[in-house]
Formats: sequence, structure tokens, C-alpha cells
Amino acid sequence: MRELTIAIDGPASSGKGTVARRVAETLGYAYVDTGAMYRAVGLRVLRAGIDPRDATGTTAVAESLHFGFDWHKGQLRVIVDREDVSAAIRNEAVGAAASAVAVHPGVRAALLQTQRDLGAGGGVVMDGRDIGTVVLPSADLKIFLDASLDERARRRHAELSGSTYEAIRGELTARDAQDSGRATAPLRQADDALRVDTTGHTIDEVVGAVLALVEQRRVGA
Ligand code: C5P
Repeated sequence: MRELTIAIDGPASSGKGTVARRVAETLGYAYVDTGAMYRAVGLRVLRAGIDPRDATGTTAVAESLHFGFDWHKGQLRVIVDREDVSAAIRNEAVGAAASAVAVHPGVRAALLQTQRDLGAGGGVVMDGRDIGTVVLPSADLKIFLDASLDERARRRHAELSGSTYEAIRGELTARDAQDSGRATAPLRQADDALRVDTTGHTIDEVVGAVLALVEQRRVGA
């Protein structure tokens, strides 16, 4: 059976990472987390003491990085220039830096070809903000995962320790505004994407719904 290319986009904490990974595992497809690539640029920029608003400095960092993904004991590892950054990129400071560097067209251009190469050939689930609109515009199936702001804040609050619900809700609001408001490749549902609202649904339910859409697409293909 032909292996599909599946694009999953959505705002922060919509559940897209978990859903995309589980869908990829079930289908035996590769999973590409493009947010991790922007986070890796954010991490390197912070470490180098470069201002994330500096387009030239951040673009030079993005252009210099070599990315790899592999599975290790059931976890996706993100390797940048031979360093495993999987743990280091998962915090709010790096998330905010990722969102800030992702505004710059040069940074996006530096990551785009790698993302397209990873998506070429099918058998892949790729998640991010602009996969259906920019990175893989001819993907076989495009899903836009969404959830209410309150629900996303609740989920993130349950995952993170040390921050209040209100603080997390505020950070999500700021990130949504930055990701949706930027000029280049803003967070937007592609015209041909199917919107799946995860509010009030478990991960299992959402994974089941997405797999059903994959099945329909395979039959129809
Ligand atoms: O999905 P995640 O929260 O890991 O992404 C971190 C940031 O990277 C997002 O807030 C967004 O600004 C940026 N990003 C992007 N385009 C993508 C994936 C992530 O701009 N395809």
C-alpha cells in the first residue's frame, strides 16, 4: 500500500506532538518534529548570547546546524551536530526563544529544505505550524489540531511543575499571538486541512480519529 505524507499543524499544547508520534508509531512511519528544530536553534542562540530578535545572528546559527532524529528506547531523540538536545530543548525559555527566532524568514529558509527532504518519499508524519501550508503543501492528509486556550493551559500546567496556571495561560496567549501574527509562514489552517478539536477528548480518542482519517484517505487514494 502506498505510504502517505501526513501533515499535522496546530497551536502550542494542542496535543499535536503526542498525537503525531502515536500515529507515526502505529503506522510504522517516520515522525518529524519541526518544533524541535526551531527549539534547537533557540537553544543555540541563547547559549551563544545572541538576541533572538537579531535576524542576521539567528539566521547564521540556523544555517550552521546539522539535524538528525533517531529513536532510543521508544523516545524520539533530536541530535544537533552530534549533541543530543532532546532534554535541553524542553523548557519554556527555549520554547519562547524558538518562537522568537521562528519569526525570521532567514531562519525558516534555513530549516525548510531539511524539512522537505525528511518529508520526501512518504511514510512520514510531520508536525509543526506551517507543514500543510508551506513545508509540504501537497501532503496526502492535512490535520489541524486545536483545543481551547483553557484546555491547552490546563494540559501544560499538568505537565510542568513550578509555574502557575495563570502564568502558563499568559505564555500560551503570547506564543499564539506571535506564531499567528508573523508575516512569514504564520500558524494557519491550510484550506484543505481537516480541523480536529481535541477539547474534552483523550489522546486515545484523538489518535483514533486521526487514524480513521488516514484509513479513509488510503482507501480513497
Ligand atoms: O511545537 P513547539 O512548541 O515545539 O514549537 C516551538 C516554536 O517553534 C513554536 O512556538 C513556533 O514559533 C515555532 N515553529 C514554527 N514552525 C514550525 C514548528 C514550530 O514556527 N513548523
